[in-house]
Amino acid sequence: MAEITEECGIFAAFSLNADEDVVPFVYNGLFSLQHRGQEAAGVALLSNGSIEVYKGLGLVNQALREIEGKSPTSNMVLGHVRCSSSGERSVVNVQPFVGHTAHGDIAIANNGNLVNSRNLREDLTKRGTLLQTRTDAELILASIAKNSRLDMQSAISQAVSQTVGAYSFVLMDSNSFYALRDPQGMKPLCVGRLADIYMISSESCAFENCGAEFLFEIDPGELVIINQEGIQRQNVLSIEDPALCVFEYIYLARPDSILAGKSVHQIRRALGRELGREKPLDADLVMAAPESGTSAALGLASELGLPFDIGLVKNRYVGRTFIRPDQKTRQNALRLKLTPIAPVLKDKKVILVDDSIVRGNTSRKTVKLLREGGAKEVAVYIASPPFKHPCFYGVDATNPKDLIANSLSKEEIRQAIGADILEFLSLEGLYRAIGVSAQEICSGCFSGKYPTVIDI
Ligand code: SF4
Repeated sequence: MAEITEECGIFAAFSLNADEDVVPFVYNGLFSLQHRGQEAAGVALLSNGSIEVYKGLGLVNQALREIEGKSPTSNMVLGHVRCSSSGERSVVNVQPFVGHTAHGDIAIANNGNLVNSRNLREDLTKRGTLLQTRTDAELILASIAKNSRLDMQSAISQAVSQTVGAYSFVLMDSNSFYALRDPQGMKPLCVGRLADIYMISSESCAFENCGAEFLFEIDPGELVIINQEGIQRQNVLSIEDPALCVFEYIYLARPDSILAGKSVHQIRRALGRELGREKPLDADLVMAAPESGTSAALGLASELGLPFDIGLVKNRYVGRTFIRPDQKTRQNALRLKLTPIAPVLKDKKVILVDDSIVRGNTSRKTVKLLREGGAKEVAVYIASPPFKHPCFYGVDATNPKDLIANSLSKEEIRQAIGADILEFLSLEGLYRAIGVSAQEICSGCFSGKYPTVIDI
């Protein structure tokens, strides 16, 4: 796997009209995908036949301050937002990267982690390739560049025939975008359109925010080429069992996105309903852990016939805690983030619904806040199974020691977070709510069964 864990968002736009500026659309698209990465952002844009790159650390409006000052225009722009594991907050690792190749200058933005990057890196460096970062995006670009005698499409097919793991990437040269998902479609990528402008996004929610129409999700193993000729679609990798990351449905994606043809919000509601069926309980009210538990809490409340209410208010101007870089920053962010509404909670038996427990810090703090707000009993209901195993495909949960369910039993977790009752959704319930079998989705962090070999 890559030395750097990256959960990312990609947004690209191309106008058939060479005079039309798509920079504002990419800006909007990246804002819409900000939940997928808050540590860095970058854009590559085509300007007079060459590729210019702007990148920086922080949220989109901080990272891309330079672009606001210079106001460049372009009909072809590739953007990226990124979250990495601790210790790698350097602008050198911020995407898109640009390589100078026999095919001309190429920019790349990728989402996901390869699980055979050590072999790929060794192979490339033995051939004398100079690599400047520890990211998979650069490895993929170098693997494509090495096939200099092939046309771009064949060079891409050849390069990805050697890769194993999760990747969704977009390449940009001076004529075309090339967008590809791995053969199991582990990371999302889709295409939209607004008049003359084609857009590629990690999530469909960004099209809505750009006023664009959602056209289709790129299939696993499919290469989509977008240029003046329009869209070409072709399968370049033999399709394997689909293995979309189930954590996209549970937590990562925005509820207004569509994944594998299913509404994320409706899947989360179904997860809550399934949890209610599996673990019925009487209570005064059901509430959500803001805000990722809301859809599941609505499902659970309707299944149990209980009132849904708001027991905590979130400060919207503090970032998501799960993807902040280190433990200390995460804990500080949480203190600023939530306030209990005492008149709702006082003397009530409350079911608090959350999407998942990864490290346990958020749940512990939230339960404490509910008690401070006057709740007499707190049942924590988690709309996913225990997150017991590391993720090798790009979600920032690579160290088993960081995962509370890896070392503690359910009862020990209940005590650690200070809840009166703790319940998880079963694995079978997870598959049932989504309408898939275990072979049709990646649930490695819950089941310990991964859809690829892990060659790390
Ligand atoms: S292991 Fe878990 S988080 Fe990682 S890709 Fe699979 S489902 Fe997603």
